[in-house]
Amino acid sequence: MPLDLASVVAPLRADPAATVLLFDFDGTLSPVVDDPAAATALPGVTELLEELAGSYRLVGAVSGRPVAFLAGVLPSSVALSGLYGLERRVGGEVVGHPEAPRWRPVVAEAVREIEAATAPGTELHGIGVEPKGLSITLHVRTRPELQDGAELLARQVGGRLALDIRPAKMSVELHPPIPADKGSALRDLAGDATGVLFAGDDVGDLPAFAALDHLGLGERGVSVAIDGPELPDDVRRRVQLVLPDQLAIVRLLEALRP
Ligand SMILES: [Mg+2]
Repeated sequence: MPLDLASVVAPLRADPAATVLLFDFDGTLSPVVDDPAAATALPGVTELLEELAGSYRLVGAVSGRPVAFLAGVLPSSVALSGLYGLERRVGGEVVGHPEAPRWRPVVAEAVREIEAATAPGTELHGIGVEPKGLSITLHVRTRPELQDGAELLARQVGGRLALDIRPAKMSVELHPPIPADKGSALRDLAGDATGVLFAGDDVGDLPAFAALDHLGLGERGVSVAIDGPELPDDVRRRVQLVLPDQLAIVRLLEALRP
């Protein structure tokens, strides 16, 4: 049974000091754009996050983006978990996953191979390659006909270098085989909070929704999805609240004011 915004957030507003608010970035706090480097938070979002961070135990972003990118587009009072839990910034300090450093040269080799395979003149030219240090995203938003080619390339390079392949919206990503995802990121940031909200819009957010369920917080465990043509059914089915569009994220943040 779908719930309305006010009744979903009321249990969280009742005890902000014991509550953690976590948000995906792209497609949740920021509109999805063709050029990933150009993404910024929706108007009003950074101010509201900063305001909420003053009352709630923790306000954070949980993203596939590097922390360095998130730090440029979100206020310093917002905790950051980047690269699907491989790095985070809490209280100004950036901490990487202990297993991450040894994978940097492997990921760098994968970037070289993928850039060569998508160079001008190749069949796969037009795939957007975004190196993220510890992961790589192959984007096909502007060239959807290259989706199959991008997935095949990711499987070939990932298979050879023992990297994991993760599908996402109009893209595919290669990651080190480290057991970190948005679920482990959510558990890390939630700590012993008795209330947690997570909002997302993509298959990469499913582990976070599952981790939230496992915390067993009852009405103080709140899952929110942002509707859109690309919202996966798996996400839509498992959340308590589906916001009708991205502008509604501003209404959600406003409704969370204690
Ligand atoms: Mg997203």
